[in-house]
Amino acid sequence: MAAAHEPHPHIKEVLISREQLDVRIRELGAQISEDYRGKDLLLVSVLKGAIYFMADLSRAITIPLSLDFMAISSYAGGKQNTGVVRLLKDLDEHITGRHVLLAEDIIDTGLTASYLLRILRARGPESLRICTLLDKTVRRIVDDLPIDYRGFIIPDVFVVGYGLDFRQIYRNLPFIGVLKDEVMEAT
Ligand code: 5GP
Repeated sequence: MAAAHEPHPHIKEVLISREQLDVRIRELGAQISEDYRGKDLLLVSVLKGAIYFMADLSRAITIPLSLDFMAISSYAGGKQNTGVVRLLKDLDEHITGRHVLLAEDIIDTGLTASYLLRILRARGPESLRICTLLDKTVRRIVDDLPIDYRGFIIPDVFVVGYGLDFRQIYRNLPFIGVLKDEVMEAT
């Protein structure tokens, strides 16, 4: 039976279905479990966009781990990334000497991830890696961003769902989709 919001009247195209998300996240979880076996893994993610990914990825990882969250504001809730990153909530945990894996929802220009890496690296983790669900490689302006785990490379389109919003809406769609033009253009 289709979920109530599938298909959604505001969605032009489902880019990645819930089944595809599920399969890929299990693969990432298996790989991460193998790579971090025997290590003190701290999975860090950024509110709010990465919450669904964090929840599913952490359950797909079969080794012991801890979770922690940061909150930032990287754009004004619209389509454009202004490049301005403000730290709204810091981690609760100390990360010095620990193996930190940053779980990101989407990397676009790379400015946000590069800022996060900089502040986390300054705290002296034993290792620091990035796992991003979505990667818009064609939009990258930070060209030395090390991405160790990546779910999907997507084209230069603005996507919503599975945690990603447009003006704070659509986060709870269970798939990654593209909004209809008229929805994006409406003020
Ligand atoms: P970056 O700093 O890499 O350019 O952008 C990262 C942030 O921009 C993401 O964490 C996300 O908040 C926002 N962003 C970039 N592309 C998209 C998109 O296609 N959809 C949504 N909803 N947010 C995006």
